[in-house]
Amino acid sequence: MGLFDGTRFVSEAEKPRCRVVIVGAGPAGLLAAINFLRREKGPVQYCVDLVETGEDYGALDAAGLEKHRSWMIALSTAGLTALRRVPGLYEDYVSQVGVQINQISIFLGAREIKQGNSAEGVAKGEAGEAYVVDRNFIVAALARFLNKQALTLGSGRLTLHYSHKMMFVDPDARRIFVRREDGVERYLPYDLLIGADGIRSAVRAGLIANHRDFECSVSDIFSRFKSVHVALPPALAANTMVVMPQCLPGMNGIGLPETGGKINISMGYQLSTPCDEALRSTDAAVVAAYLQEKFKPSELPWDEFARQWVGQAWSQTGQVHCSSYHSSKLQLLIMGDAAHATSPAIGMGMNTALADAAALDELLDAHADALDQVLPAFSEARVKEGNALTDIAFYANSFSPAQGVRVILAQLVRGFLSKHLGPSLVAPEPMNELGMGAKLSEMYAELVRIGRLPAVRAVNDAARRRHFELRTGMVKARPSRLPAALGAASALAGLAAGVAALMATQAVSKPLMEPAGGMPLLEVCGDPHKFAASGLHAFEPMLGGSFVCLITQFLHALVLEPAGLLSWGLTIGLALPVSVLWNAEAGRTGASGLVRWPTLLGLLGQFLGISVVFPALWLPAAWYGKGDGAVSPARAYASIALAAPFISLTVALFTLDPTSRAWTVCAGLLGGPAIALLPLLLNLVPAPAVAVAFDEFPSAGALVAKQAAAGAKALGHAYALAGVLAFMGYAANVYLASLSYTSLGAACTALWAEATPAVAFMTIDAGVLFLGLLLHLASTAPAEAVAALAASLLLGPGAACALLLHRRETHQHAEASAEAKMVAALAGKKQL
Ligand SMILES: Cc1cc2nc3c(=O)[nH]c(=O)nc-3n(C[C@H](O)[C@H](O)[C@H](O)COP(=O)(O)OP(=O)(O)OC[C@H]3O[C@@H](n4cnc5c(N)ncnc54)[C@H](O)[C@@H]3O)c2cc1C
Repeated sequence: MGLFDGTRFVSEAEKPRCRVVIVGAGPAGLLAAINFLRREKGPVQYCVDLVETGEDYGALDAAGLEKHRSWMIALSTAGLTALRRVPGLYEDYVSQVGVQINQISIFLGAREIKQGNSAEGVAKGEAGEAYVVDRNFIVAALARFLNKQALTLGSGRLTLHYSHKMMFVDPDARRIFVRREDGVERYLPYDLLIGADGIRSAVRAGLIANHRDFECSVSDIFSRFKSVHVALPPALAANTMVVMPQCLPGMNGIGLPETGGKINISMGYQLSTPCDEALRSTDAAVVAAYLQEKFKPSELPWDEFARQWVGQAWSQTGQVHCSSYHSSKLQLLIMGDAAHATSPAIGMGMNTALADAAALDELLDAHADALDQVLPAFSEARVKEGNALTDIAFYANSFSPAQGVRVILAQLVRGFLSKHLGPSLVAPEPMNELGMGAKLSEMYAELVRIGRLPAVRAVNDAARRRHFELRTGMVKARPSRLPAALGAASALAGLAAGVAALMATQAVSKPLMEPAGGMPLLEVCGDPHKFAASGLHAFEPMLGGSFVCLITQFLHALVLEPAGLLSWGLTIGLALPVSVLWNAEAGRTGASGLVRWPTLLGLLGQFLGISVVFPALWLPAAWYGKGDGAVSPARAYASIALAAPFISLTVALFTLDPTSRAWTVCAGLLGGPAIALLPLLLNLVPAPAVAVAFDEFPSAGALVAKQAAAGAKALGHAYALAGVLAFMGYAANVYLASLSYTSLGAACTALWAEATPAVAFMTIDAGVLFLGLLLHLASTAPAEAVAALAASLLLGPGAACALLLHRRETHQHAEASAEAKMVAALAGKKQL
């Protein structure tokens, strides 16, 4: 049959030919191909080349296709209308592979709220109709239709290039370069090029390369999800879409029925509020136990669910915004995800992709196949829809839980008022129009007009920006106000206790200084003549001035009584994990402020008591400015090695003759600045270099996770060693105390109620140090502080805190290792 051109009938053979190359045999590309081949009666004869990296799903039988299940997609009015334009396509092909939706169930915890339609659902073709189909099953249905259609048209009209990847566009020669799976390469010429090649579109790359005025952005949807297929549990109705906000802490879920009596459950979390650790476990038993405990909407086959869950990496996808969808210069256009990939949050990506293909067909009709008019008209009609789609999907839900609740309330109130007062008084709720065939650009305009979209945009963009800044180390994490307030309070309390203890020691030190004429400690040490006359410590002047004298005398007072050993032992046991903590944290990537200066803190400790300085200065600094990056393993090990001089000098002090020169030298070393200056050596070990870990570049993320894992492992070892040493010291201390005191009460009396000033000072030191460590643990996990407190009587306070810190780092190590594996897997995984 020919075509009447106004003067005569033009035969098929005489019609001008247009070679259309379509890249991507996804839903958009396949429907576009079907539509071109249907344009038999038009003035142009189209020949289609379909290029696709994957295989032809249309050639697979049911069993073969079952192996390619992906995720269920909800098709609503827009997508169904686009499909139904092609007679027989929906009725005979697509409707055979999916499930009609009759009802929506929203689960708030275990409470089910049924919404919507009658048992029969919305009548076919009516607004609000919904049909659910696996992404790959609809692709198979479209491909089968296309393959059959090609058979009726004769040779040359459709050429399939499956297992071919398009590499680039050659703009001057109007051709594309493709490479077959086996490496064979060739060019394909075109008159019209259609990029339906998904989010990482190579055709779009050609647009970017050849048009300076073409603006395009690809960004993360800011969430990660997994999707499993399990048998539909009896508690859930068939043909029902199940919406499960906050079905697990920090997780939203959706369940879509699928063929074969199954349900496809997808659950995801936002990057700013990560899901619980158990869900990141690689052990199916851990995941199953967690789900069984926490997942309230329904019983599910937990073991099978968990098996599939751990067997897949977290899926991530992106969103695309483009300023134009065509190039007249290159004679090409882009559609579907290539033009407007989006978050699945509102379930409209494929609907819009199919609507793009339908819109192109309608524009060819409207402009009598004149491509010079059709291409700009396509951009004019579809750019606003595509960008409205991506923005509504990303800003429909707020990342702030409080704003999220306000948004839901506003939706309910507006819907109710509009229904009962009438749309002339209150405009309908825009989100209620979703999926009913309304134009997305009109919904977008209404959401902007009522101010909702700009409000959520401000919150979500800020959250995304903040996450990015933290991930890349551009800014430091700010702690919540509570730990910061606790830190400040502990700082003031610690400082006050230190100053009070120093003054008390000074005030009551006259009896201690009896041999020196009963003068206060500072006075004796401040005057070398008086000191020499006292005969207190014959070697003292050789070691330096009053500073060393003060501490040496202090230590001298301690070694003279059993309670001195007890209080000093407690302090050293606690100083071991503290030493690892402050020396290692100082070298974390991103550490700033006082945290980076353990040497300064050590020197200050000489004056006020090291334990007093720790909470007074380190804690608030740690909370306000500690790094959240990795620590180098060498630094972690060196941090515990620095405790060696402390321990050996302590042993010397309590075993040597206090009147000997050796004792004085040891006391002078322990009390003098030499040990406090040792951490300067750690400056030779730099913090791990910052690897920029954009979400878009998973391999950089894997490197960061590996660094974190190595540092956490080493720190875990360092705390373990600190714990063992502290426990040994505690055990020895308890044994020695048992020789001197008949009961725990007697020991406590000697440590505090009847303590000499020096012993009381050390008791305060140990107490403040312990409190500081407990607060440090409580700042991130209050339960850990309680556990440390409980274990301290048995293990000693130093060993108990070290054990908890060791446990924390071991967890960090497991988590970072799992993340490194996951991100590395993601980097290698083909993303849709
Ligand atoms: C979890 C999830 C749930 C979703 N739920 C819904 C929903 O409920 N409703 C809805 O409407 N949408 C939903 N979507 C979105 C929907 O899947 C996509 O919008 C839709 O698949 C886009 O179709 P497309 O043809 O444009 O691109 P794609 O489906 O991405 O197809 C692109 C094709 O191009 C091929 N290709 C890529 N690069 C090349 C190359 N260089 N050379 C040759 N071939 C290439 C690919 O192999 C692929 O086959 C969901 C998406 C996800 C991830």
